Amino acid sequence: MSGTVLPTPMPAVAHANGNGRAAPPTIKGELVDPAELAAEVDGLSAADAVAWAVERFQRDLRFAVSFQKTSSVIVDMAYRIAPDARFFYVDTGVLFPETYETRDALADRYGIEFKRIADLPGTAQAGERAANLLRLDPDACCADRKVELMRTALDEVSCWVSGIRRVDSQTRADAPKFGWDERFGLWKLNPLADWDEKQVWNYIKDHHVPYNPLHDQGYPSIGCMPCTTAAPNGAGERAGRWAGTDRTECGING
Ligand code: SF4
Repeated sequence: MSGTVLPTPMPAVAHANGNGRAAPPTIKGELVDPAELAAEVDGLSAADAVAWAVERFQRDLRFAVSFQKTSSVIVDMAYRIAPDARFFYVDTGVLFPETYETRDALADRYGIEFKRIADLPGTAQAGERAANLLRLDPDACCADRKVELMRTALDEVSCWVSGIRRVDSQTRADAPKFGWDERFGLWKLNPLADWDEKQVWNYIKDHHVPYNPLHDQGYPSIGCMPCTTAAPNGAGERAGRWAGTDRTECGING
């Protein structure tokens, strides 16, 4: 699959996270048409979308893992396509024990090393303001514990892979399978964008993939311990995240 050659090269502009990498429409120096690529990838199955990104970005691709059910699918899928795929997770320092257990179960099953991104100097995790930050300012807490760490994780790569789905929430309802991520200044693949709940669980069961046991305890979505609760059946895919507040995203995916 080759990109469309445009008549006039676009100038390189500053990378959104400040490292000066070229913005679209280039991939590995090749001029492409972002809209054409987005339409093309949107018609691919999840596995084919991952395979496409592996072929296109090669070592410049990173899989972000949250150790929720969608991560279990993506880890298995990616491993089958590219056993040397690179995975990372953001450790906010306040994750559930079950989340670490899931990390270890997946690592044992596939022989994967999940790169831990944590303790960025100058952020909440590294200083004494950590405990107060969550209580006083959740926006700043997410910015410090999550978004800045993501910038570090993605600093050297051209495309990252997320497990978000359109059924997750209103804010994700229009998520493309592939596109430019302005927030972090690189390409982003959402291979499960059009998957529903049944597809996720069928995949996990069919392939016997380890998954986070909190899902069996009423947690539809799993993040940091202080901001995640169980939720009633049918309450929604993001129910239980920042319950009782208007907050729906941490800033990584929206
Ligand atoms: S989800 Fe809660 S604890 Fe985690 S980074 Fe955001 S505000 Fe802080």
